[in-house]
Amino acid sequence: MDTLKNFINGEFVAATVNASEEVINPATLEVLGQTPLCNSTDINNAVTSAKQAFETWSKTPVIDRVQPLFRLKSLLEEHTDEIAKIIIDEHGKTYKEAQGDLLRGIQMVEIACGMPTMMMGESLTNIAPNIDCNTTRRSIGVFAAITPFNFPAMVPMWMFPMAIACGNTFVLKPSEKDPSCSIKLAQLFKEAGLPDGVFNVVNGNKEAVDAILENKDIAAISFVGSTPIAKYIYENSAKYEKRVQALGGAKNHCVVMPDCDLDQAVNGLMGAAYGSAGERCMAQSVAVAVGKIGNELVNKLAKKVESLKVGPGLDKNSEMGPLVTKEHLEKVKGYVDLGEKEGAKLVVDGRNIKIKGHEKGYYIGGCLFDNVEKKMRIYKEEIFGPVLSVVRVKDFDEAVNLVNEHEFGNGTSIYTRDGDVGRTFASKIKIGMVGINIPIPVPVAYHSFGGWKRSLFGDQHMHGQEGVRFYTKLKTITSKWPSGIRSDPEFVMPIMK
Ligand code: NAD
Repeated sequence: MDTLKNFINGEFVAATVNASEEVINPATLEVLGQTPLCNSTDINNAVTSAKQAFETWSKTPVIDRVQPLFRLKSLLEEHTDEIAKIIIDEHGKTYKEAQGDLLRGIQMVEIACGMPTMMMGESLTNIAPNIDCNTTRRSIGVFAAITPFNFPAMVPMWMFPMAIACGNTFVLKPSEKDPSCSIKLAQLFKEAGLPDGVFNVVNGNKEAVDAILENKDIAAISFVGSTPIAKYIYENSAKYEKRVQALGGAKNHCVVMPDCDLDQAVNGLMGAAYGSAGERCMAQSVAVAVGKIGNELVNKLAKKVESLKVGPGLDKNSEMGPLVTKEHLEKVKGYVDLGEKEGAKLVVDGRNIKIKGHEKGYYIGGCLFDNVEKKMRIYKEEIFGPVLSVVRVKDFDEAVNLVNEHEFGNGTSIYTRDGDVGRTFASKIKIGMVGINIPIPVPVAYHSFGGWKRSLFGDQHMHGQEGVRFYTKLKTITSKWPSGIRSDPEFVMPIMK
């Protein structure tokens, strides 16, 4: 079985280590290859190349820096099917979901192409007689990214197109579970004319991550993954004096009001809870049934969950593929066992599903719990699988308090026909991304993505203007030209009046 290469200084190079981990197709259990588990030698090689490339890249005019991104966009569109197949094979996504993963990534590239205007600063002339003030955005240096398994195209592309367009160079450490998409992106970026060393990919797991944290030449880290690791990255980035944005896990609530269009809410919930087998940080894993709507909601959901089409991603009829690994499947099944023990009512049990011809695949069918309570672990913890919990509450205020008390704050939605309720919800809710009659409120590329509370450590969200802020630093130049310099020294605090 082939061991995946790293991409350093424009070349595909073998890792310096022997340690590796198998990449397995979760639908067929075919071993697709090995991810090398790199150490500080490989990371440091990539950083050295990125540091050298920064010298020229940061001085390249921004309009020239975005030219490879224009070509990358076209190449990604030409290779959509090939990349989708890589994602389906290694992750288990359905075809449409894999295509969507890439499409969202391509939109990030499109936005980064607009960097000449996005990166503009602020200026004001004559802040005092003959004095002008210019606030400019400057590139920073070498950025590193550490990404999760669940969006192997989109999440890395939340980061590197903008970082590179801003004049930085980049080292990406993708998830060891589905690393090949990143290598394909690197190949296409090279083909698009990106100079060597500007974008590098190094594979691995914890050891590679620790080498990134400790490397003094890495200025900043973008991380996306689970909350415990996000916190670890955040704390250690501070320790090693790096700028950091670390996005963590989630438990997203969908509040279903009694006045809503229930069929619309149920359809929205189905896609949001079971799409991508629930392996989305914006998955809706809790439906909050307000007032008397509970029974009708559960009945309608149960019928749809029972008829979900589960199967391999390459079968275009599949609505839900397998989970990513055996360990993850066991973890999700363990939560369903736990929910029963905790006293929740398991309305639909997907644990024993068998897919004809793929009996050994890491499949679980959709699961639906009713009467879930906030003290239960299945409510409190992120399951990251196709398990939807229905919590019943008496009114809107109880629903808002429930959502606000949860430790995670990534996304939430409300279904209602009442404009006042929708607006009040948006105002009162302590969550980063809010949908009103929208099941998965993932902001588009030109807005910014990020949660609140323990779903994001750091200050800046991903992409949009927040992305530009994260990938640049400010330099403010206050200038007075020669004719105004003819004055005596001044020893007071300058107030420019
Ligand atoms: P994970 O935290 O296990 O892994 C993420 C990255 O961290 C990987 O690159 C992995 O190699 C590395 N890593 C894992 N263990 C580590 C350790 N002990 N020390 C240092 N690095 C380590 O996450 P995952 O299972 O790949 O992805 C799923 C998680 O990501 C879920 O919690 C999901 O909610 C979250 N996620 C969040 C967002 C968001 O925007 N908030 C988006 C996508 C996924």
